[in-house]
Amino acid sequence: MGDQRVYNFSAGPSMLPLEVLERAGAEITNYQGSGMSVMEMSHRSKVFQKIFDDTRDKLCRALSVPEGYKVLFLQGGASSQFSMVPLNLIGKTRRADYAVTGNFAQIAYEEAKKYGQISLAASSADRNHTYIPGQEQLKLDPQASYFYYCANNTIYGTEWQYIPQTGDVPIVCDMSSDILSRPVDVSRYGIIFAGAQKNMAPAGLTVVIIREDLAGGQLPFTPLMMDYKIMIDKDSMYNTPPCWCIYILGLVLDWLEEQGGVAGMEAIKHKKAQMLYDVIDSSRLFTCAVEPGSRSDMNVVFRTGNDELDAKFVAESTAAGFTNLKGHRKVGGMRASIYNAMPMEGVEKLCDFIQAFDKAN
Ligand SMILES: *Cc1c(COP(=O)(O)O)cnc(C)c1O
Repeated sequence: MGDQRVYNFSAGPSMLPLEVLERAGAEITNYQGSGMSVMEMSHRSKVFQKIFDDTRDKLCRALSVPEGYKVLFLQGGASSQFSMVPLNLIGKTRRADYAVTGNFAQIAYEEAKKYGQISLAASSADRNHTYIPGQEQLKLDPQASYFYYCANNTIYGTEWQYIPQTGDVPIVCDMSSDILSRPVDVSRYGIIFAGAQKNMAPAGLTVVIIREDLAGGQLPFTPLMMDYKIMIDKDSMYNTPPCWCIYILGLVLDWLEEQGGVAGMEAIKHKKAQMLYDVIDSSRLFTCAVEPGSRSDMNVVFRTGNDELDAKFVAESTAAGFTNLKGHRKVGGMRASIYNAMPMEGVEKLCDFIQAFDKAN
């Protein structure tokens, strides 16, 4: 069954581990003797409650989530958090700081402006988001209700290599495209959120890790589905949670543990990315516009500088079994998204393909 699978470099939804898909397939009509699929179960049933609790506990273990934090399994995608964060947090001082280092941070910044006075703490737009600003470049407001940034810029291929120092101001971070790729000191954050479809599970699940004391200050008109306090009090079950995605996340977390957890993953992902960057940097044809200290280990962007040649690369790579390498329309060129589920072998073969293309053209 796995034989005809391609190496899928999609930015999201993206590859899931084959072992996870096969296990989900084996259990799809009758989950562990329940006589039904996880898709058909009441979210209030004992059997589903166990899936839910186990998945949450496995995530807490994988990321060493400390006391005082709550894990929420919500819907609405990472994009819903662009509204949910200010609705719940900005009430404190009516001010917040945003670092805009890419498309999704830009959307979050614009959205937050509806609810308070939002300052641009930093922007990389001056050089088309090809770098991450350093700590000394951040203009921080000590009165901000929170500081917001996006850890990995999926479209531009940049990744923060440090956690900003913000004093007492809580940090809110969009980790949609690099969560579970490395250990993270959760205690440094107020809120971490991530859409699942990049590195965790199918689309439809949004994971939120929130310091509990940050909930409860929502603006009076906050929709009930966007109220962290309600979701915390109801343990994400105010309404029907994305049951199937939560189940798959549990399987992905089992798989992750077998790979050595997030620490094991960090070594692997760094090696995969380094192989690709080395091949790009040493080629005649290809360049990566992102500054070396800001390059993402998850989304590797590269180009030839010639649109026709880029198109040829995309067509030939697709024919050779490497799919979704076409870059985002905002950036052009190519992008290889190499999340946790992309095997080392897929990256090695792509490196060989890039080198052969470089020679032949
Ligand atoms: C994909 C992505 C989003 C948008 O996620 P949705 O779940 O589609 O709303 C937001 N932020 C980052 C960093 C992403 O990669």
